[in-house]
Amino acid sequence: MSGPLPAPAYDSAVVGAGILGCLLAHRLAATGRRVALLDRRAVGSGCSAHAGAIASPLARGERLRAMSARSRRWYEEYRRSGQRAPIRSLPVLFLCAEGRQAALRERCTQPLAPARASALPAWIARPGPGVVLGGPTALHAQVTDLCRMLSTGSGIDVYECAPVRRWHGTPGAFAVELSDGRALHTGELALAKGAWLASVDLPAGPVDPPRTKKIVSYTLALPASPADSLVYLPDHDAFLLPRPERAQWWLSITSREWGCRPQDDPAASPEDLRTAREVLRTYAPSALPALRGGSVHCDSYSADGGPLVAAPPGRPVVVHGGSGSGFRYAPATADAVLDALDARPERAS
Ligand SMILES: Cc1cc2nc3c(=O)[nH]c(=O)nc-3n(C[C@H](O)[C@H](O)[C@H](O)COP(=O)(O)OP(=O)(O)OC[C@H]3O[C@@H](n4cnc5c(N)ncnc54)[C@H](O)[C@@H]3O)c2cc1C
Repeated sequence: MSGPLPAPAYDSAVVGAGILGCLLAHRLAATGRRVALLDRRAVGSGCSAHAGAIASPLARGERLRAMSARSRRWYEEYRRSGQRAPIRSLPVLFLCAEGRQAALRERCTQPLAPARASALPAWIARPGPGVVLGGPTALHAQVTDLCRMLSTGSGIDVYECAPVRRWHGTPGAFAVELSDGRALHTGELALAKGAWLASVDLPAGPVDPPRTKKIVSYTLALPASPADSLVYLPDHDAFLLPRPERAQWWLSITSREWGCRPQDDPAASPEDLRTAREVLRTYAPSALPALRGGSVHCDSYSADGGPLVAAPPGRPVVVHGGSGSGFRYAPATADAVLDALDARPERAS
């Protein structure tokens, strides 16, 4: 006898398998929940696929400093727990104008000390009166690999190439509808759609709709070794990241292009190229011929530059605001989602 197959039922569903969604699914599964993790494409294929993925030692404000410290502890414990996580620690050098030192020390979560210019790669030149500071370390991850690792645990069913068209229901009984008409049933629902987050995902009113902005990193075809430092150029809101695993360096620059839509397949613009060349002319003129293509994506941004968790009554929990630092804050963000889910009356009763 044939009949309709029973719809799969989950304790939790997470829409969006970027770093925020994967870390959340991993943490939910660790509490014993049965989790569905859904992505319109592949795991880690959104903004997370493009991330330089530094957990930097710079943070503004108490909330972000606390999230940064908490996330770093989590990544370090995960790495130590024998998971062979694709996360490494690397030394950080800052190259900045003499007069910017005090502001930099204030933003840095670790002590800074003068460092020798010889600690920089030979192709990076200290401009005129600039100073070199060192001491801190940062974490760097291969985010796509990390996303895959986090989502492969038991208790998680991964649905790739499964765009979620709509959701309905309320906490305790949500239905998530896929493009092919299937529906998954789940008690808890979290939306972690990054820059795809739409206004229908958030209630009108108290929660500000997220803004999106372009993020750009150019590759430099220059040899990198595991001993190389990450070099911050705070006067230009830029950094140079050694990527020995790809035999490249990445020059991350700051784009001012707001309203970026991932659906439009964003790419580097002439303005981005001008910025990248200006940074290189200032600090590394000999590296100009090594400039290659730009890795570009959109991220959603919050007012304070860190992820936000919204748990509007009667609706899914929404995670947004990677703000160019989604990797760096993901573990602390997952904590906030777990707290929000556990505090819901349906769960307490
Ligand atoms: C060049 C570059 C460098 C960066 N460097 C750093 C860095 O050094 N440090 C740092 O911390 N961060 C960095 N970032 C930012 C970081 O990559 C983002 O903050 C982070 O990846 C955001 O993660 P996310 O999970 O919110 O979004 P995403 O990774 O974009 O994931 C969202 C997912 O939702 C899926 N989705 C959307 N709509 C649907 C739907 N309807 N149904 C199913 N699935 C859906 C998408 O396919 C996507 O996979 C960088 C970003 C770029 C582009």
